[in-house]
Amino acid sequence: MKNIVMLGAPGAGKGTHSALISAEYGVPHISTGDILRANIKEGTELGKLAESYIAKGALVPDEVVIGLVADRLAHPDAQNGYVLDGFPRTIAQAEALDKVARIDIAINIDVAFDVIIGRLSGRRVCSCGATCHVSALGGSEICPKCGKQLYIRDDDKPETVKARLEVYLKQTAPLIDYYKAKGVLVDIDACGTIKEDFEKIKKVLG
Ligand code: ADP
Ligand code: ZN
Repeated sequence: MKNIVMLGAPGAGKGTHSALISAEYGVPHISTGDILRANIKEGTELGKLAESYIAKGALVPDEVVIGLVADRLAHPDAQNGYVLDGFPRTIAQAEALDKVARIDIAINIDVAFDVIIGRLSGRRVCSCGATCHVSALGGSEICPKCGKQLYIRDDDKPETVKARLEVYLKQTAPLIDYYKAKGVLVDIDACGTIKEDFEKIKKVLG
């Protein structure tokens, strides 16, 4: 199986499609955001460091996430393909990744900016890992998957959303050209339902 990088703005659906790819092709879904949030929850040194950056909508320093991902990619389960979600997020991270991995395909999930803002501000998450949107909940605040109380991620607050989108445009969007130049970029026009968009991704992955 392939080594896959997922690109796209916050809220584009990287996490959703990464989870679907992971289930469909049996490769690990490696999300730096999830790893950092798990560390915050457990109160580790890494979590303490990451917390202040994430709360502001800023990026955690490159050397920290690069070390984290390099360790994770060395695990036995990552030797036969993986889907990287939320990494790389800067050119420096992409260059560091190239030293330890061969990326076969970079999937850019392309979604209009006004759609993104609506999604992030309506996003609700559950400690079971589920993500949903208020528009699909009909006023309920209960996770449709497990029944627990849903909550709003700290960094989905409006001021932080704005900061994250600015960081994305400045620091992460240049990765589209970076992978295009390597000849591994695929654009997915994510304008349909999750199912329709995922069909497009499956076609690309074969
Ligand atoms: P989203 O894609 O919705 O912004 P993530 O869960 O991928 O959410 O990331 C949440 C936050 O975690 C980011 O705003 C950033 O502070 C931090 N983070 C995650 N991945 C990285 C990374 N590769 N480099 C630096 N910071 C990161
Ligand atoms: Zn749940």
